[in-house]
Amino acid sequence: VTLIDTHAHLADAAFDADRDDVLRRARAAGVGVVVEIGEEEARWPKARALADRFPGVVYWCAGFHPYYAGQADEGLGARLRAALSHPACVGVGEIGLDYHRPDPAPEVQRRVFAALARAALEAGKPLVLHCRDAAGEERAQRDMLDVLDAVGASPGPAPVGVAHCFQGTIDNARRFVERGFLIGVDAPITYPKAAALRAMIATVPLTALVLETDCPYLPPQSHRGKRNEPAHVPAVAAALAALLGAPPADVAAATTRNARRLYRLPEGATAH
Ligand SMILES: [Zn+2]
Repeated sequence: VTLIDTHAHLADAAFDADRDDVLRRARAAGVGVVVEIGEEEARWPKARALADRFPGVVYWCAGFHPYYAGQADEGLGARLRAALSHPACVGVGEIGLDYHRPDPAPEVQRRVFAALARAALEAGKPLVLHCRDAAGEERAQRDMLDVLDAVGASPGPAPVGVAHCFQGTIDNARRFVERGFLIGVDAPITYPKAAALRAMIATVPLTALVLETDCPYLPPQSHRGKRNEPAHVPAVAAALAALLGAPPADVAAATTRNARRLYRLPEGATAH
């Protein structure tokens, strides 16, 4: 089964020297599809160009990370709609709330997130959520669920979106899943100290899990301190299978099926 990296940042300068090799290694490792996340507007053209160069292998999302919420202007909605008209643009993200940093102010982040979430729902595109709390808090998780309810995010025939790199509580994971969101799993589940994260992931049904790298960040334990890349998705899949006590083939098949439903990718549309 082809694995899917549902969240990568290959436009990052960390890949400038060997981007094509990185994609070749991914496919050699059985990762046939990579979804490139354009987390800021300046990255959209690069993400789109990558998808154009690797049709059927790279898809992309147009996002506006909460770090940049203070830069959102009147024309953002129109520019986002234009970006979403590209045939390989399969989602809106990452968007969300990050209270780990004091800036921008939470109320600014909430307002921009609500506008972007509404735009995604109107366009019928899945939302790729970035939700990060200050240590020991769950205010961002609760505020995000409130915003999603306010904009009318509710379960439909296809997933409404994904809570990417979710590291929240068991109860909040359930609340996201109840609203039609999938949960993105990445290499922190391989970190020795991540017992709470593993315990939370183990409560989420396999029908609601997708694999991701968030590369160049978050390498698996075996590569700590190095650059992460999509070829490491199998390490995440193996760790997830061990955690769930499920056959690796079942985990691979389920997460790939979930990722295809999430991003509305055609069945078996990988250019192998
Ligand atoms: Zn990311």
